[in-house]
Amino acid sequence: MQYRCPQCQSVKIMPVPQSGQATRPDVPKSLVILVFSIFLLLLLVISSIVLWIFSNGAGTNLQVATIIVFFITLIAGFLFWRDLPSFKISMQAFMQSQKIWKCRDCSHQWQR
Ligand SMILES: [Zn+2]
Repeated sequence: MQYRCPQCQSVKIMPVPQSGQATRPDVPKSLVILVFSIFLLLLLVISSIVLWIFSNGAGTNLQVATIIVFFITLIAGFLFWRDLPSFKISMQAFMQSQKIWKCRDCSHQWQR
């Protein structure tokens, strides 16, 4: 198994989509929720900080929302941690079924 470019040894390689190839990694829903809730949490935290700086502090609604989103992030993190083994297997299956790769550094394309 080679995860480097054979020409420049770069690790910045990407799979080239092939027609008729059905195998795709199963992205668990918990990962989608986790990424989304982390993004939302960041947004809420940043707006809280902005409000703290420019006005008399964050409102109660914003604080409650931040706490709720924080718990959603924790739960999603836990769910993703449980999904992780099957996600890894699905990713490995995808990497192995992938035949054509392309290097993003030198644009070299090769077949495994
Ligand atoms: Zn290369």
